[in-house]
This record gives sequence, structure tokens and C-alpha cells, in this order.
Amino acid sequence: MNSFKFLVLTSLVLLSLACGREDAADAPPAEPGVADQATRSRAIEPAEGISEVASRYSKRCDSAAETIAGLLAELEASGSDPSLASVFEPFNELTRLIDNNMYEAQLFFYVHPDADVRRIAGECDQKFQGINTRLFLSRPIFEAFAAVDVSQEDAETRYFAEKQLTLFKQNGVGQDDETRARIQALKGEIVGLENEFAANVAGDLRSITVDSVDKLAGLPDDWIEAHPPNEDGEIVITTQHPDYSPFMRYAQDESLRKRLYFEYNNRAYPANKEVLRKLVEKRNEMAQLTGFASWADNQNATKMSGNAATVREFIDKAASASEDRARGDYALYQDRLRKDVPDAQAVMPWQGSFIGNKLRQELFSLDVAELRPYFEFQRVRDGIFELTYDLFGYTVRPVEAEVWHESVSAYEMWDGEELLGSFYLDMHPRENKFNHAAMFQMDMGERGRHLPSAALVTNFPGETGKGYMEQRQVETFLHEFGHLVHWLTMNRQRWVRNTDPEWDFIEAPSQMLENWLYDVDTVQRFAINDAGEPIPADMVAKTKASQDFGQGMHVFGQMALADLSLSLHDRDPANFEIDELAEAINDRYRLFGKTDGAHGFAAFTHLSNAPYAASYYLYMWSLVIADDMFSRFQAEGLRNRETSFAYRDRVLAKGGSRPAADSVADFLGRPYNFDAFESRLTSRD
Ligand SMILES: [Zn+2]
Repeated sequence: MNSFKFLVLTSLVLLSLACGREDAADAPPAEPGVADQATRSRAIEPAEGISEVASRYSKRCDSAAETIAGLLAELEASGSDPSLASVFEPFNELTRLIDNNMYEAQLFFYVHPDADVRRIAGECDQKFQGINTRLFLSRPIFEAFAAVDVSQEDAETRYFAEKQLTLFKQNGVGQDDETRARIQALKGEIVGLENEFAANVAGDLRSITVDSVDKLAGLPDDWIEAHPPNEDGEIVITTQHPDYSPFMRYAQDESLRKRLYFEYNNRAYPANKEVLRKLVEKRNEMAQLTGFASWADNQNATKMSGNAATVREFIDKAASASEDRARGDYALYQDRLRKDVPDAQAVMPWQGSFIGNKLRQELFSLDVAELRPYFEFQRVRDGIFELTYDLFGYTVRPVEAEVWHESVSAYEMWDGEELLGSFYLDMHPRENKFNHAAMFQMDMGERGRHLPSAALVTNFPGETGKGYMEQRQVETFLHEFGHLVHWLTMNRQRWVRNTDPEWDFIEAPSQMLENWLYDVDTVQRFAINDAGEPIPADMVAKTKASQDFGQGMHVFGQMALADLSLSLHDRDPANFEIDELAEAINDRYRLFGKTDGAHGFAAFTHLSNAPYAASYYLYMWSLVIADDMFSRFQAEGLRNRETSFAYRDRVLAKGGSRPAADSVADFLGRPYNFDAFESRLTSRD
């Protein structure tokens, strides 16, 4: 979405579907669990009877938790003769129910129109996460799991067993009773602090005010219209993205941009400095209790990187691949600033976006506002559906289903005669809804038994008729749809926890799909204005050139954040002070002029989001792989079905049933490497 490529998605992601689609699978239906019933009645209708809606959901959640806890206890007592049937299969059902309920709670927490439901959903989420922790701390289940002889089983089963055993160890199952009790408690404390960090950011909405519309010079007319003066004649500009990003890009008044910059970079400061301090201490304690040298080692044990040292090496490599280009681009910013201010020294951070926008206009004669008429929401949506068919052979059909809000629509995705699963589009803004873009996982699929589902949640225009999108929003749509196609393609494993690949691969398919937005042949099929004219080819070329410009700065800046995320978690927190650590990293990656008094880390919410906290590098790691995979499409044709079907079958469909590196090598015919990423950064048209 923004330069952070904010994809909260995956960590929250996952919930389940309202239309009881599981029954449509042609294999014998599994024993319906509580979650399945929950799924069928998922359509908590908003409107009247708020307390009733919430209390029904609350009961359902309690009842599911009770059932799941019962299954966990049964598995613990299963005792002798561990086998696939006595251990793996009950484990499979248990994890499926945990995931379905947790994902539903996460979706409702972020999007449900009923405030009581959102609050209860937050509690439910913690409850199911707690059960998941208990499962992976259970000595009897671990021992039964480890005792199953998988030597004669197929590769996916052996890989599944190996991964779960790593997870048990990562969670500390090998520790004594007292330590495991401390781990369970500590986990709760950590989740509490993570929520506190996130809540501090959400709760610290800051703003500046101006007393006259003249001060808004440079901003687009629709933005100005959306910001009328209040009763006191003041115009309020907040630190939320729909205000902040355009203001920093377009507002001509530099002193106002500077003020807003400092407000933005002090959100949740100093409160979150203290929360973060406690958080890194407790995470470090957890790492020690579970037998790891650091939290970064613990968290990366189940990722492709494997450990903190490999991540450090990766960050250094990506930073050095991008640094020359980043500094070269910065020099252009400096030259541009000096045209207006001849004696200017450094470009200050609050000047960066504004000058970058001017440079893009001058270098590529591209006014991004001119793109909007070509990106009408419904045409874009249908174009993305069509692209999904062209690349993967999947068709999308609208279906009737009960939903959580009237603006949400439901669809099925089919591969020929085979139903892959269902999805919901919740695409437009409303009050109290998640305000970024994400795919939320819903139901877990299971081969031959259950079909998956998911929801795309975004905040695009078009809720009341035609809505014209920013090109950046179209890119986000494609990105999130990439997650969805991946999810529905891979979510049919024999073992439910073989669905997701390693987390540092998860952003590769979605980032790769963004490239099709710059393919003239693809874009002209749906980027059509109201007069029926497709977007001119030269305009697409300009958007591509403009997107390439600034890639060095983007990658280098992302590595600063990745370095911070790693450095907070790869060492003993007793040995650093957070402000100083953050400042030292800023110094190392600084392009723009140095400032005092900005503390952006306090609102860097990825730090409170478990899978990303020590692992922000994962976006760039995924992008390296995405670039390499895309190189085969570039060689063979972006719309070559032989290539896209090979990608679908060898990469997407495999999910987490084998190492992602093996899937990529299967598609590329060789191990993936850094070359495509590096050459994209070093070549200049
Ligand atoms: Zn993503």
C-alpha cells in the first residue's frame, strides 16, 4: 500500500466461510466439528439486537473452544501405538479447527460492523492462540508425534512430521514442567504487550490544523473538498495515511509538511519505547527458555532463512546491492531541490516525497492523476478475474451467501469442473473497518474433505457506483488477489499444517503478480475509460519507468527497517538502549538530512506483529525470489500458459508440502538466485 508494502495480511490472515461450502466437496464429509457449524451460521447479521448478535458469537466461540480443548485432551490421552491414524489424523483435525476459529476471530476483530462482536472476537482470538500454544507445549502429544514411524510414508508426510517436530522444539516442548509453565505464561504476557503496542499506535491519532484553504495549495481538488473547514474555520489534517501521504507529496507549504512529519514520527512515543523495551526483554527471555541464542534465531527457525545470521547476511547483501542506486537517486533529489533553493544542503525527510513527485513529473511527464479515469473499480475487478483465467485457467462465479456486511460479495473459484474454494470481497471503506489491505484467511482446506475460503479486505472507492482508483491501489488489488489465488490453489494438502509455505516465501507470488500491471497487453484489457478507450501504451510505459525510478531508495530504506527489526531481537536487550540503537541504524542507512526528535520506530507496527517482528526482511527476501521467478515469464511470455501452468502446479499448488526453495527450483530448473533482483536495481533505462 505505502512504501512499506504493508501486508498485515498474513499474520492475521485467516478465517472461514459463510456458505457451508465444505459440503460441496465430493469426498465424504468429515465429522462436522463445532467450527463447521460456526461456519455455516457465520453470517452474524448486523442491524438490530446487537447484544444478541454478540452473545451468539460469544457462545459459539466458547463452545468451539470447549470442543477443541476436549480434542486436545483426547489426543494427549491417546497413549500406546502411535500411528498416522491415532496421532496425525486427530492432530490434523485439531489444528484445522483451531485455525478456522482463530481466523474467523481475526476477521471479525478487524471488519465486523458490530463493536461487541469485534471485542469478543479479540478475546476469542487470544483463546484459540492459547490453545495452539498449549498444543505445542504438550509433552504427551510431542512424544506420541515423535514416535510415529514415518520412514515408509510419502515425502509430504515426512516433511509434515519434520516441520511439526521443529515447531514443538521452537515452542519449548523439551523443557521441564516448570519452564513450560513459565513459557505458557510468558506467551500471554508477550501477546498482551504486542496488543498494547498496536493499541498505542491506533489510539494516538495526531493532527495539525490550518486556518485557510490557501494553505492547501498543491493538493488535489478532491482531497481539498474532502477536508472542509470545521465550525471554527480550521482544517484538520491527521496522521492517517489518506491524509498524510497526499499531504507530504503535494502540499506546497513546506513548514506544514515539516510539522506533520514530526507529528507522524512521534505517534505512540514515548509510550511505545517502554512497551518495546519490555517486549524485547520478554521475547529474549522466551528465546533463552526455549533453548535459542536469540528471539531472531527462534523466530527464523521455521523460515527459509533458518537463523538470524543468514538474515543479517541477506540484509547486508540487499543493502549493498541497492546503496549506489539509492545514493544516485538521492543526488537527483538534491539537484532538483537546488533548482528552487540554490544554497540548499541536504534534502530533509519532509521534502522527500514532494520532490520525488516533482521529479517523476519532469522525468517521465507523468501526472498520476491522469491515470485515474482508466481504473474504474468494477472494470479493474473483472479484469483481474479475467487475468486469473488467462494465467491459471480459473473461473470466478458470484454466489449467494450470508455475509457480515451488506457491501460484501461472495464468489467461488473453479478450475474447470472442480471447485477450488470460496472467497469474499469486502472492498470499500466503512466506519470501524480495518483500514489497510489484506487477505484474511478463513477456512482451511483439506484434500478431499474440506474446501478453503478467504476474504479480501481493502478500502477502494466504488461503493456507490463508479469509483476511480489510483494506480497504486490497482497494484494493491493485484497483490492481494495474488495471495488469494495462492491460498485457494495450495489449500488442499493432506495435512492442514502443510498448507502455508515458509513465511519468507509468502510474499513472493503476490509481489510477482504486480508485474502484470505494467504489461500493456494485460492492462489495456481492463484499463478503459468511460469513453471506451484503453489506456495508451505510452502511458503504461511511463508508469513502468516511474515505478522503476526510486527502486534503489525503496530497497535501501526497507533494509533500514529490516535491520531495526533484526537488531532489536538478535542480541541481549540488556546491552542496548532503544533510541540509541534506532539512531545508529538511521545513521547507517541515512539518505536524507539528519533530524532530531523523530521516533518512527514507536509506530512501526510490524514490531508488534509476531511473524514480522524480528523478520521484516521477509518482504525483500520474497521479492528476490519473485524477481527470479518472473524472469522465466519475461523469457517465455507473460501470458504463456505453459509457463503459468507450470508455475501454478510446481510452486503455488505445493504450498508448504515441501520446502519453498524446492518448488522454486522445480519451476526454474535451477536453484533461485539474486541475479534478477540485482540487475533490476543496477540497470537503468
Ligand atoms: Zn502480501
